[in-house]
Amino acid sequence: MLVPMLDLKRQYAALHQELLAALEHVLETQQFILGEQVAAFERAAAAQLGVAHAIGCSSGTDALWLALAAAGIGPGDSVVTTPFSFFASVSSIVRAGATPLLADIDPVSFNLSPSAVASVLDGPRGKNVRAILPVHLYGQCADFSSGKNRGFTIIEDAAQAWGAERNGAKAGGLGNAAAFSFYPTKNLSAAGDAGMVTTNSDELAERVRLLRQHGMRCRYHHDELGWNARMDGFQGAILSIKLKYIENWNEARRAVAVRYHALFTKAGLAEMEPCSAHGVVLPREVPGNRHVWHQYVIRAPRRDALREFLTARNIGSEIYYPVPLHLQNALKGLGYAEGDFPEAERAAREVLALPIFPELREDEQETVVAAIADFLS
Ligand SMILES: *Cc1c(COP(=O)(O)O)cnc(C)c1O
Repeated sequence: MLVPMLDLKRQYAALHQELLAALEHVLETQQFILGEQVAAFERAAAAQLGVAHAIGCSSGTDALWLALAAAGIGPGDSVVTTPFSFFASVSSIVRAGATPLLADIDPVSFNLSPSAVASVLDGPRGKNVRAILPVHLYGQCADFSSGKNRGFTIIEDAAQAWGAERNGAKAGGLGNAAAFSFYPTKNLSAAGDAGMVTTNSDELAERVRLLRQHGMRCRYHHDELGWNARMDGFQGAILSIKLKYIENWNEARRAVAVRYHALFTKAGLAEMEPCSAHGVVLPREVPGNRHVWHQYVIRAPRRDALREFLTARNIGSEIYYPVPLHLQNALKGLGYAEGDFPEAERAAREVLALPIFPELREDEQETVVAAIADFLS
């Protein structure tokens, strides 16, 4: 690859002595599941996010389920979320036994549209809504103030948003509980599967801790049906180290985004919506937000042909996400159809994520923008 979509080896090269020492420590203590390393990561994570509780778990998907289940959301309840996200945002609601109600996105932020959420809440199926599950897609916080003001439980899907802020407050502490993922491609990443639930509620935190370990308060006495959703010691050790660098990495991502913006503008390719055949629509930081640029996602004309063109030039790109969730085979039972969420469907046709990671070099970005300019010329 001339320009990779993501090159984790560059991060590893800078950290490898430190990471190896931490892994060795886990081997010496033999605390492979939860244990001292996970507890230390939980304390440091809570302090960094400014939340009362951070509970390490097995994945972002499990974090979503734990948060929903701990909040008591289950059969008979509906949860409003977006059709334009990773599958787990919706599947976790179904897992919890509740019903997902989808609302269309805002075309600028790609996040839940507050007015679309309001019409779902006021619509015929709105009366069973207990919670809203906003997804902070691509690293930018969603605006869910209307739902919060109306007293709904808010479960943030912050899987892509470690360090993101809205009106000066960090993702993870904006609602009743939040779910993070440390999947290896996320901006704060483990060396395998891992996740976290954060909350300011003592009661929710206690329930999450219970549910992640078979509903077991004391050994082999089970108060309720939980699950095995624990974090490994190795992941806790790795994440403790990376947590010290994430602020710098997020700043580096922000600098990459600023450079893309300048390069596209200089090349005369930056357009406003809707994009024409000669330019691309650049992603924007919505006022009041601190975007952490987990992804840099443009809207492009002839998107699939552009992606093939970039691939032929050994330039990485990705489509997050090509099929909106209401059109997924596994979610047909929700009863939605094509045309129900026009903005999510248009985004699925137009979006293209370009290489972005803290170590991405300026010359690599120039290569990406020059290739897109060639394609459009
Ligand atoms: C990655 C991701 C998840 C799931 O996290 P895993 O750790 O892969 O289980 C959930 N929601 C969103 C928006 C994600 O990007």
